[in-house]
Amino acid sequence: MTYDKHYYDGAWQASSGTETIAVISSATEQEFARVPRGSADDVDRAVKAARRGFESWSRLGVEERAQWLEKLAAAMKTRVPLIAEAIAHEVGTALGFATKVQAEFPIMMIGMNAKFIREAKLEEELGNSLVIKEPIGVVGCVTPWNYPLHQAVCKIGPGLAAGCTVVLKPAEMAPLSAFMLAEAAHEIGLPKGVLNIVSGSGRVVGEAIVAHPGVDMVSFTGSLTAGRRIASVAGDGIKKVCLELGGKSAFIVLDDAPFEKAVPAGVNNCMQNSGQTCSAWTRMLVPRLRQEEAIDAAKAQLAKLTLGDPFDKNTRLGPLASAGQRDTVLGFIEQGKKDGATLVAGGGRPSHLATGFYVEPTIFANVSNTMAIAQEEIFGPVLSIIPYDSEADAIAMANDSPYGLAGGVWGGTPERALDVAKQMRTGQVDINGGRFNPLAPFGGYKKSGIGREVGPLALEEFFQLKSIQR
Ligand code: NAD
Repeated sequence: MTYDKHYYDGAWQASSGTETIAVISSATEQEFARVPRGSADDVDRAVKAARRGFESWSRLGVEERAQWLEKLAAAMKTRVPLIAEAIAHEVGTALGFATKVQAEFPIMMIGMNAKFIREAKLEEELGNSLVIKEPIGVVGCVTPWNYPLHQAVCKIGPGLAAGCTVVLKPAEMAPLSAFMLAEAAHEIGLPKGVLNIVSGSGRVVGEAIVAHPGVDMVSFTGSLTAGRRIASVAGDGIKKVCLELGGKSAFIVLDDAPFEKAVPAGVNNCMQNSGQTCSAWTRMLVPRLRQEEAIDAAKAQLAKLTLGDPFDKNTRLGPLASAGQRDTVLGFIEQGKKDGATLVAGGGRPSHLATGFYVEPTIFANVSNTMAIAQEEIFGPVLSIIPYDSEADAIAMANDSPYGLAGGVWGGTPERALDVAKQMRTGQVDINGGRFNPLAPFGGYKKSGIGREVGPLALEEFFQLKSIQR
């Protein structure tokens, strides 16, 4: 799976330097691929190609762009097993989940953007004005490692559909699916300069993309720390930014909720992809009087989530993506113990899995919302059960977070759950088991970000408005 070139201007291009990045398998701790470590020169060439590509791509008819996206999705479909295998290695995602959620789902979303742009209303008469939605230009995309193809597609799908061209830098730890996207684009003969990919570090390649005067907009998914830096570099160039950052989402289990359904759903949500999910419900708020019941139900559900080799078909939770990630998560677990939270499951490295970046799925109870494990994004399989005394208390604690990405509510009636959901300062809330909807906009309040991705409304981020008076 090794790639030795970047992809821009419709061709595979030699890197300006000879340095490379090793891609490490999270289960074996061994290197299993390499990609080039690019430089600002590579970025410059890729951005120039994207600018040239924009001239014709932005003027192409909507139907033609839609058809290109459908062709791209079809070419990606043939690569599903390879993508899933790569991401199982890179991220540690169990292969079955990787196949469906890390490969098939984002590929479906590429195709959905064809439908969205066909149905978009791009012109509107307002008084004596014709208001036109035009593509914003060249978009610099920088993505994280946890759902690597999904996050790239969340930007490239609507961006290309809207008529923008893109330069993408994938995460160092999980770059391979981006290269497969380039292979697919090349195979279908996607016009030159439309999709450009340069791999490398955030500080060098990422910042060069963000700062490049030829880039009109930056779409970033990743940590709050990098998001802050990107927003300030982009601000210098007065560029639009779309930021999809971290989360510390709360799941409120109301006192009349069916615990036998709600608690397992909360555990599954928190532990998905071994907790390496930005929208994970890492705080479970339960009525104080029913905390013991919630702990028992949570432990019973956790016991069903087998930890192991991502390539074993019985595995539900694989290792974490890197040694660094594992150590960060273990550090938070130690902090939780020190701060006086009650450890009710897990709490360390599993003794039977000596190789691989494994952490036991962990549950703390009696957590106070002020503890580090309740305030900071851990990005690993750690659930904090937080007792509350009243519904108002639960809502206040849910909102007492720097983040506002996602959340959940389970109540005895949909009406009560909806009423609580409306009081949560967060970009999405699932009530009484509501499922993820690829038509609904996704994004954060507060420090979880700026802008929205996913669904037809995501297109709006990639347009700007022109008013023509007549
Ligand atoms: P990260 O911020 O370390 O890196 C993300 C990307 O940004 C990488 O490609 C990295 O190389 C690049 N980067 C880092 N510093 C940069 C800089 N100064 N300039 C330009 N690029 C830079 O994040 P990560 O560890 O890869 O991902 C985990 C984080 O992503 C978590 O905080 C998670 O919540 C967040 N995330 C958010 C969403 C969402 O939709 N809101 C989705 C997935 C992940």
